[in-house]
Amino acid sequence: MAHHRVRIAPSPTGPLHIGTARTALFNYLHARHVGGTFILRLEDTDVARSTLEFEKDILDGLHWLGLEWDEGPEVAGEPARGPHAPYRQMERLPSYAAAAQRLLADDLAYPCYCTSAELEADRASREAERLPPRYVGRCAALTPEERRTRERDGRRGALRFRVGEGVVAFDDIVRGRVEIDVANLGGDFVIVRADGTPLYHFTVVVDDAAMEITHVIRGEDHLSNTPKHILLFQALGHAVPRFAHLPLILNPDRSKMSKRKSQTAIDDYIAQGFVREALVNYLALLGWATGTEEEILSLPEITERFDLSQVHKGGAIFDRERLEWINGQWIRRLSADELIDRLRPFIEADLVAGRIEWMPSDDELRSLLPVIQERLPTLGAIGDLVGFLWVAELDVDTAMLIPKRWDHATTLAGLEAAREVIADVRDVVFEADEMEPPLRALAEARGWKAGDLFMAIRVAVTGRTATPPLFDTLVALGRDRVLARLDHAVEVLAPS
Ligand code: GLU
Repeated sequence: MAHHRVRIAPSPTGPLHIGTARTALFNYLHARHVGGTFILRLEDTDVARSTLEFEKDILDGLHWLGLEWDEGPEVAGEPARGPHAPYRQMERLPSYAAAAQRLLADDLAYPCYCTSAELEADRASREAERLPPRYVGRCAALTPEERRTRERDGRRGALRFRVGEGVVAFDDIVRGRVEIDVANLGGDFVIVRADGTPLYHFTVVVDDAAMEITHVIRGEDHLSNTPKHILLFQALGHAVPRFAHLPLILNPDRSKMSKRKSQTAIDDYIAQGFVREALVNYLALLGWATGTEEEILSLPEITERFDLSQVHKGGAIFDRERLEWINGQWIRRLSADELIDRLRPFIEADLVAGRIEWMPSDDELRSLLPVIQERLPTLGAIGDLVGFLWVAELDVDTAMLIPKRWDHATTLAGLEAAREVIADVRDVVFEADEMEPPLRALAEARGWKAGDLFMAIRVAVTGRTATPPLFDTLVALGRDRVLARLDHAVEVLAPS
């Protein structure tokens, strides 16, 4: 098998998007699976919208996910590495200019002097006739003399590529045979603006050719661009790479996942405490299936099984619940040290935001892991789950304290009695097993449902209705704090 070279070519016009991360992952997986080369190139020719901040966000995000590339910027601690540097398109302008000259010399492209007013009038008249937009070809057959006249009038020509006639066909690795009549491409298209800036269709092909890309793996939203790219590869005298168009990522209602409607920035997922292993695992399942019952797989395991030709054609629905489930599974697989390290920034954020009042020690966190590790859907959920451990006083009111099936008086009596029982459990044996039987006996003796009593205690000592198991929670709080919080709840409820 010839050596495969694939690339991810993000435009730094926004933060790292779920779709870009998925495309990067599939390129990475293919390259690693076949022992090929994975290249990263930044397509920053949209100068108005590209920023260095977005570039950094994208590169940082891809590094964070662990999708290391072999050639491109920021490889192995070097600013750039690879035989085809530079890897930013704005630093490669001479190569586009040279390719443009070749096309012009071969009459495969021509200068177009149409003004925007002319083009706008063409568009409007085609629209009036209900025809799709198409360049009318006004400048396609100008004589050298006519071109000179226009240049003398001070007009600067854009460069238009001649699309010709016929059908462009290719065998997409995911979608199978694709055939598109050149007549549907909208006519000759601009590849270099009048001010000299090269446009996407052109730069992408010049670079894919220069970087000897053998497989273009990208989102299905680019499918309609591919015939133009194939024509350009041919015009430039380059072998046409193979294409694999990955299915769109859809919202649960099957609409296209867009920045406006859905959370699409990888940063937001990182900030909520999704772990890289889970994001990579989940992204791999957007368009590909493991082929077995096993869904929780590491990047090396996925790499081993991944097969580009098994990628699905149909849209991939983004299912947040499934992502959370996978995240929870990965959180369970982390070692204690690793989990503590990863939780710390989230706990610090809770501290900074004033949701908790002090940081727990590593030892305290370690002792909590048996009860929290399997209950965290995300790292960011730590505060909601056990933040009550790290505040001096709870903010509880009467309405919260009274369980649904109980009234004020019962709750007061229940908490007072529970306090007695818990106070009898000595400090040295303050363990879950020591507390549950006497509290159950208390409920039975008074004719209360144990669940109601436990709920009243839970709310009194944690300020919330959902927590890790009650008795583990009491142990984590410690005897003194449990008693103090019960006293406080009793005070809140006591008639003044
Ligand atoms: N810069 C393009 C994008 O971000 C890359 C397109 C391609 O992969 O050919 O969508």
